[in-house]
Amino acid sequence: MKGSRTRHLVLILGDQLDAGSSAFDGFDARRDAVWMAEASEESTHVWSHKARIALFLAAMRHFRDALHERGWTVHYHTLDAAENPTTLADLVTADLARFRPEKIVMVEAGDWRVQSSLKETAQSAGIELEVRADRHFLCSHDDFAGHATGRKQLRMEYFYREMRRRTGVLMDGDDPEGGKWNYDAKNRGTFGRDGPGEIAEPIAFRPDATTRAVLDLVATRFADHPGELTHFDWPVTRDQALEALDDFIRNRLPQFGRYQDAMWADPDEESDGAQRRHAYLFHSRLSAALNLKLLDPREIIAAAENAYYGGAAPLEAVEGFIRQILGWREYVRGIYGRFMPDYLDLNEFDARLPLPDFYWTGRTEMNCLRHAVGQTLTHGYAHHIQRLMVTGLYALLLGVDPRAVHEWYLAVYVDAVEWVELPNTLGMSQFADGGRMASKPYIASGKYVQRMSNYCGNCRFDPAQSTGATACPFTTLYWDFLMRHEEALAGNPRMTLQLKNLERLDRSERSAIRGQAEAHRRQIESTD
Ligand code: FAD
Ligand code: SF4
Repeated sequence: MKGSRTRHLVLILGDQLDAGSSAFDGFDARRDAVWMAEASEESTHVWSHKARIALFLAAMRHFRDALHERGWTVHYHTLDAAENPTTLADLVTADLARFRPEKIVMVEAGDWRVQSSLKETAQSAGIELEVRADRHFLCSHDDFAGHATGRKQLRMEYFYREMRRRTGVLMDGDDPEGGKWNYDAKNRGTFGRDGPGEIAEPIAFRPDATTRAVLDLVATRFADHPGELTHFDWPVTRDQALEALDDFIRNRLPQFGRYQDAMWADPDEESDGAQRRHAYLFHSRLSAALNLKLLDPREIIAAAENAYYGGAAPLEAVEGFIRQILGWREYVRGIYGRFMPDYLDLNEFDARLPLPDFYWTGRTEMNCLRHAVGQTLTHGYAHHIQRLMVTGLYALLLGVDPRAVHEWYLAVYVDAVEWVELPNTLGMSQFADGGRMASKPYIASGKYVQRMSNYCGNCRFDPAQSTGATACPFTTLYWDFLMRHEEALAGNPRMTLQLKNLERLDRSERSAIRGQAEAHRRQIESTD
C-alpha cells in the first residue's frame, strides 16, 4: 500500500466476479483496494465436488489477475498459503486489524450464511460495512416483494409474465411474441429409439497455467472429496464465458426447446466425446459462468432474442430458454430472499431418511440413477430433468431428509450456490416448503423416466411393475408416496388425477406395494 492507508476495501466474494458490479462504483484503484480470499470453509461446509472447488478458485484467480491489470491492488488470500482451515470471517477480521479501512463495501452476498457472518465480523471490528444491491439480477428484492404483495400464493408463470412485460423481452407491443406466453407443449420431445444423433459438442476450455495450478492444489488438498477433475473444461474467465455463450447460441439453441426434458445415455459405454455430448445434449452449460457473474443475464437473453429475430432459432426454443433465465432464475432468487433463513428447515412431509450412499459413488443397479450420479461425479453437471426427475424424484419418493438432499445438491454441481440451489431442491424438487414455490410435488413413476430417456431399456427393473422381483423402485415408491401422503395431498386440486388413479388399487395391491417399498428401503439402508 506504499505506506498510505487503504480508504475502502472492496470485498469481492467467489461468485461476484463482475468488474462492472456496484461494489466498484465511485472507487478508485489508486486509493482503494480489493479484498478476496479462498477460505477453506467455503469448500468444506458441504462436501464439495472437486470440480466445483476448482471452478471457483480458478475463476477467482483469473479475476484477481484481470483486476491487477486494471491497476487495482488486490489483497488476495490463497488456500495454498494457509495450512490450517480458514473461514471468511477469520480472514476478514485479521485484515481489518491490519489495514483499518474507513469502510468495507460489497455487493450483497447470494448466501444468507455468508452475509450474516460478514455483517457480524464488521460489527465486531467496529468498521462500517456497506452492502450494495446486486444489479446482476433483473428483479431486485424490493421488486419481488412488490410482486408478492397481496398474492395468496406465488407462481413462477405469473412472475415470468410480469418480467416479460416489464423488460419488453419477446414482446410484441402489449402481447407476447407469437401470441402465447409459453410454448412448452412443443418442448417435450424425446429422442425416440434412435437417440439424439449428431450434436455439436460444447466448446471445451483447456486449463491454462493458472487453472492447472488450482487443479493440482484441489487434487492434493481435497483428495477425499467427491468427483473428478480429469474432464475439467469449464469457462473460467469472462472472455471464455462469452465464447461459451456464442457456441450455445449458434450450435444448440435451435434444438434446446424441443429436447429440453429428454435424457440419453449410450448403452455401450461411449467414448469421452459421446459421453460429453450426451451429458450436455442441447443445454447451454452456462449456469456456472452465470452464477459466478462472468456473464450478465441480459446479454444471454439478448443473444437468444437476436437469434430468434434473425431467423436462426425457432420461437419455442428461444422462449423456452429465456423463461429459464428471466423466469425461473429470477423467481428462485426472489423465493430465497423472501423466505430465508427459515426456509432451510422446512420439511413438509417430515422426511427423515439419510441420503443413500450411492449418491456419492453412482454404484446402484438403478440405471437412471447410475447414469445421472455417474455423470455428476465425472462432470459436476446434470441437466434440469436429471436433477428434478431422477436424483430429486428418487430422494423425495424414498423419504430422504430434505436438508441432506439440499447438502448433496449444493456439493456436487459446479453451478451450485445456495440462493439458486436451495429453492430448486427444497421447494421444486422435494416440495419440502409445502408449496411456497411450486403448485404440486413433481412426482411420477418409472414410466416418466422410460418415456423421456433410454435408461429403462438397459435396466434390470421394469418401470411398469410396482411389485415383484423386477419392480422398478421408482414405480413402487411412487404409489407408496401417494398412499403415505394421500390425506395431505387430497386438498391440492393439481393432485386430483394422480389420487384418482390411486383409488383403483385394491387393498391387497396397496399392501403388496407397501411391503415392497419397505423392503426396498431396508435394502438401501443395509447397503449404505
Ligand atoms: P439450461 O438448461 O441450458 O438452462 C439455461 C439457464 O437457465 C441455466 O444456465 C440457468 O441459469 C437457468 N435455469 C434453468 N433452470 C433453472 C431453475 N430451475 N432455476 C434457476 N435457474 C435455472 N441451477 C443452478 O444454477 N444452480 C444450482 O445449484 C441448481 N440446483 C438445482 C437443483 C435441483 C434439485 C434442480 C431441480 C435444479 C437446479 N438448478 C440449479 C436448475 C437447473 O437444473 C440448472 O440451472 C441447469 O441444469 C444448468 O444447466 P445449463 O446451464 O445447461 O442450463
Ligand atoms: Fe430407473 Fe426404473 Fe427405469 Fe430402471 S426401470 S432406469 S430404475 S426408472
